[in-house]
Amino acid sequence: MESYKILIVEDEKELGQLLHDYFKKEGFETILAFDGEQGLTLFQQHLPVLVLLDIMLPKIDGMELCRIIRNQSTVPVLMMSAKSSDVDKILSLGLGADDYITKPFSPGELVARVKAQIRRYTLLSSPIKPDEWLKFSSLEIDSKGYRVFLKGNQVDLATKEFEILRYLASHPQQVFTREQIFTAVWGQNEYGDINTVTVHIRKIREKIEKNPSKPHFIKTVWGVGYKFDGGS
Ligand code: CA
Repeated sequence: MESYKILIVEDEKELGQLLHDYFKKEGFETILAFDGEQGLTLFQQHLPVLVLLDIMLPKIDGMELCRIIRNQSTVPVLMMSAKSSDVDKILSLGLGADDYITKPFSPGELVARVKAQIRRYTLLSSPIKPDEWLKFSSLEIDSKGYRVFLKGNQVDLATKEFEILRYLASHPQQVFTREQIFTAVWGQNEYGDINTVTVHIRKIREKIEKNPSKPHFIKTVWGVGYKFDGGS
């Protein structure tokens, strides 16, 4: 099994460290943040596959951080709380948390829940199936055939342009940094100028957007990167 990256945001240092070590032992790659602000920064840097989020946190509290993460990503968020009354709050606020666990909990139970969430998530957003045909309002992408159609007319994209578009469109609404896009398309071991991504995105926009300066499909998320918006 590949090692999944999870983010733990917990201000109780001892508990945070304990969870960090426990998940590491279970084969996860763990990133630890001690407050909400650091949690957000690390989330955007690492794009973990799951976030384990304490509710009472300094700087940005867990509920607010959950809301922010939900606006940027569909990764599972599992909330940890010291009070069972918080659970009602999580539910009533509709923050989009996927699961919650009340402290104290057994690490074994937590790991089981985390694994269940990751299984569900990776099943939903699994890597591109080779025969997949992605369809968004006027835009269609033939993943296997490297073809793109705009209102039924084929658009000519260079290979890397196609691969960037396919990558973003396979994860609608998920924000990617230029570094992540570069790694996904050119590979981990390629060295190159990160600005290449910017240049390619501009070219893609010129080809698929009605108004490239007001893009409909590939949106710029200021200070972070890009996301694909397949909305109508
Ligand atoms: Ca706390």
